[in-house]
Amino acid sequence: MASMDWGSRQPTGHPKIDEQHRTLVDTVNRLDAAMKMGEDRSEVERIMVFLKDHVESHILFEENLFRLLEQLASTDLLTSAWNRRHFDQSVEGEVHRSSRYGHPMTLILLDIDHFKRVNDSFGHPVGDQVIREVANRIRSAIRLSDSLTRWGGEEFIILMPNTGISSATVLAERIRESIATHEFEGIGPITASLGLAEYIPSEPRDAWLDRADRAMYRAKDQGRNRVEADLTRSEAIGTTEHLEGTFLKLIWSETYCCGHPLIDGQHEHLFRLANELLDALLSDRPADEISGMVKALLEAVVQHFHDEEEILSGLGFTGFAEHAKKHADLVDKALDLERAFHAGTLSIGGLFQYLAYDVVVLHMLKADREFFPLMADS
Ligand code: GH3
Ligand code: MG
Ligand code: MG
Repeated sequence: MASMDWGSRQPTGHPKIDEQHRTLVDTVNRLDAAMKMGEDRSEVERIMVFLKDHVESHILFEENLFRLLEQLASTDLLTSAWNRRHFDQSVEGEVHRSSRYGHPMTLILLDIDHFKRVNDSFGHPVGDQVIREVANRIRSAIRLSDSLTRWGGEEFIILMPNTGISSATVLAERIRESIATHEFEGIGPITASLGLAEYIPSEPRDAWLDRADRAMYRAKDQGRNRVEADLTRSEAIGTTEHLEGTFLKLIWSETYCCGHPLIDGQHEHLFRLANELLDALLSDRPADEISGMVKALLEAVVQHFHDEEEILSGLGFTGFAEHAKKHADLVDKALDLERAFHAGTLSIGGLFQYLAYDVVVLHMLKADREFFPLMADS
C-alpha cells in the first residue's frame, strides 16, 4: 500500500470534516506501516477495525451535514416553513403521484388581510412576529401529510396530498378560524383570506395555482376572513381518498350558530352523527352497522331540511325557493350515492365524503349563511 500524502488534498474548510479526513489518512498510513513492518496480526486488525469505524462515522457525519444544509436551503428562516425552492422541487413529485394513482390533491393559498396596516401601525418587526404566529397557527391545524410553504411576504401555500376539495375546505375553515380567534398581543384581531383548488389531472402546475389564487381574491372581494374554493372539479367526488388520516373529525364552533335554537341544535346533531359514522368507519365496524348509521344520518338531514324550510318560509326568507331547491338537490344526490354504495359502485369513503362534508359542512358554511342575517333580526 502506498503511503497517502495529506498535503496534496485540499482542505474543505469545515473543521470537523478536515479533522476526520486527517485522521483517516493517518490511520491508513499507520496501517500501511504496520503491514510493511510485519507487525503482528492483532495490531493490524486493531487498526483495521478503527479505520472501518472511523469511515462509517465520517460518512454518517457528512450525510447528516448535507441533509442539514439541504434543509436549510429549503426552509424559510422567519417561519421555519418550506420556501418556494422546496415547493417547486416537491410539487412535481406530488403531481406525478396524484396523476398516476388518481388520488385527489388540493392546494390552499392563504393571504393575511390588510397586512400593510400592521406594518404601518406597529412596525416591521411586529409584522414579522405576526407572520410567524400565523405560520404556527396553520402548522397546528394541518396534518402530518400536509406541507406548509411560505410563498411570499404574507402569503402561504398548504399542499394537501390525497385530499379532495371538500375535506380541504373543512381544514381551511379551521385554519381561518384559528387565526381569526387568536389574540395577537397588543395588535388585536388578524384575519386571513383563503383560496382552494383541487388538482385536475394533467393540468399545468401554474394553472392550478392560478385557480387557487383567483379563489383567494374572490375571498378578498367578498369581505376577507373567508374561505373560497374553485369548484371546477367539485363534480368529481373523491372516491379514492384513503380513509385513515384523510377525513377530519368535524369540530363544532359557536360561529356556526345562527341564533335559532332548533336549527343550531340540529346542525350540531348532524356534526355528531357524522363524527360517529367516521369513528365507526375508522374502527372497521360491521357493514350493516355502517349502513344503519348512514341511513340515520340521511334521515336526520331530511328531517332537518324539512324543519329549516318551515322556519324560513314562516319568516318570509326571500331566498326560500332557491334554498329549498338546494336542499332537494342535495338529498336527491345523497340518495343516488347511497344506492351506488349499496350496489358496490361507490366506496364508503366517497359516500361519507359527500354526506359529511358536502351536505353537512359545506351547505352549512355556505348556503345557510344567506339566512343568518334574518335570524339576527328576528
Ligand atoms: P390585502 O388584505 O388585500 O391582502 O391587504 P394587504 O395590506 O395585506 O396587501 P398587500 O399584499 O398590498 O401588502 C402586503 C404587505 O406585506 C406589503 C409588505 O410591506 C408586507 N410584507 C411583505 N413581506 C413582509 C415581511 O417579511 N415582513 C413584514 N413585516 N412585512 C412584509
Ligand atoms: Mg398579499
Ligand atoms: Mg395581504
